[in-house]
Parts: sequence; C-alpha cells; structure tokens
Amino acid sequence: MNYIVFDLEWNQSPEGKERSDRYLQFEIVEIGAVKLDQNRKPIGEFRRLVKPQVYEELHFKIQEVTGLEMELLLREGQPFEQVIREFLEWCGPEEYRFCSWGPMDLTELERNIAYYGMEIPFERPLLYYDIQKLYSLEYGDGKSRAALDQAVCEQDLADEGGFHRAFNDALYTAEIFGKIDMERFGPYVSVDYYQLPESGKSYRLSFPEYSKFVSAEFETKEELIKNKEVSDLVCIKCRRMLRKKIRWFSYGQRFYFAMGICPEHGYMKGKIRVKKSERELYYGVKTVKAASEEELELLVQKREDNKRKRKSLSKK
Ligand SMILES: [Zn+2]
Repeated sequence: MNYIVFDLEWNQSPEGKERSDRYLQFEIVEIGAVKLDQNRKPIGEFRRLVKPQVYEELHFKIQEVTGLEMELLLREGQPFEQVIREFLEWCGPEEYRFCSWGPMDLTELERNIAYYGMEIPFERPLLYYDIQKLYSLEYGDGKSRAALDQAVCEQDLADEGGFHRAFNDALYTAEIFGKIDMERFGPYVSVDYYQLPESGKSYRLSFPEYSKFVSAEFETKEELIKNKEVSDLVCIKCRRMLRKKIRWFSYGQRFYFAMGICPEHGYMKGKIRVKKSERELYYGVKTVKAASEEELELLVQKREDNKRKRKSLSKK
C-alpha cells in the first residue's frame, strides 16, 4: 500500500466568519502531496494552485502566513473540480492511505468536494494516518500536538523552504513520517469523522490498549446515549459483554463515563465523547480501555463531584 502525504492551504472570508459562505468556511487554494511507497520512499509529487471561486480576496492572515497572492491564484490556479479530479487520479491506481498533519486537512478536503456537489469517493470507514498524532505517541506524551515547524526543528530536518505552502508542508510531514517506528505505531490509524456510519451501523476499531466505536448520527443526545450499541461495554481482551460497576453518567456537556468489570480481565473504563456532525446531528465516539482499582475510585469521585456541581447549579 502507498501513502499519500498531503497538505492544503485554504482561504476564508476576508470580512470575518459572519460573512463566510455557510457551506464553505474554508476554500482550498492549494494542494501539495508526496506519494510514498510501502517503505515510505518518495515515488511521486503533486502540487497545484486552485483558482478561487468563493472568496474574491485573500484574508490578510492567510496572505501573511502563506505569502500567496490572489493574482497568482487567478492566473495560475485551476478550478477545484479539475484539481481534485487530477489529484484523485494521481493518488491511485494502487491502494493508498492518506497521511496528514492533524485531522483538519482531510475534513476540509471532503467539505470542499461536497460543496461542489461532487461525490466523495472514499470508502467508509476512511482510515488515515494523523502524523501529528503518531509523532506525539513516539516523541511526546501521546496527547499534546506539536506544530509542524516545531517537529521539524526537534528532528533537525533539512530545510525544504518555508512553512505554510502546501507542497513544503507535505514534504516535511513525509519526512517526519519517515521518523516514526511503524512496527510500534503502525496500528494507530485514525478514522475520518466526516463520513459517519449509516443509520444502524457503526465503526469499530481495536488498538493494542483500547477499542474505539463511532456511532451513526442521532437527533438528540438522549437518543444517542440510550442506544444499546452506544451504551454497551465490551471487554477489550475477550469481547465479553460487561456488567457495569458504574453506570454511564454525564460529565460536562460532551462526556459520559462508565466502568465495567470482566471476570477475567478486570476493570474496563468507558468514555463517550458526544460530537456534532456536519448535519448538526449528534454522534458518539466511545473508547474502552483497561483500568485499575485506583481508576475505579477516581471515577466514583468524579461522579460524586458531578452530582454536587449539578446540585449547586440547581440551587442558583
Ligand atoms: Zn475479558
């Protein structure tokens, strides 16, 4: 399988968010990509400017950061529809996996494709490598996210030209990708949330220390949480359905927690993060991982704190 390491530059309304096109806040103005073979050796390059069709001027910040000029985009850019067709053709015909620095580029790519009424040609679930996340897993604490220039500096990589031009950033991302121990971190694929599971379906991924479940969309948060598949807790080692030691409780607006116990593998902690989809519906991302007795205590405490907070709120 090949890897398509790509990066985008996008423009936004020069008059601020209120004046943005409601279906396209970010208009792609440049695509840069490097194709790597299965050994992560470069075998191809792609770079195109996109002729803007939505915003007639560049936002000053975008101009400042990228150094792009509207005249250049109008003169040398090609319409998005054409660029994306060429890009997708260039990506194949061999099987490939997208790689990018953070999850935003893939979402914006899909949003721009959808904006022009084109069909999103990617499989579901669409798995990709978030190199920023892999970098944090290997060189950081796994949670923090470094900026690309910071990672390039930390790794002492050769100067490929400035940052914030799509092709340069793709090159840097590919070089960082080359520094990742894929024997160890290869299993940590990310899953795209732009195209969610169809109603009644879900995405299930399993990783060395945790499992991940992505639900379909629901009208309300309550419906989401009541759904049996969403609220089930399954042991990550033996797949057994678990008895709950702590039932799901809400924590803030966006989280739910629960603790189950497997007679063979001990405590399993569940977390559901509630998210809003493109269509303004609710979906949940549930992760389950093994937990200790101590974490059980902590979760009990968290639930109590939460109850107290709610009480004091209702008194006000
Ligand atoms: Zn088990």
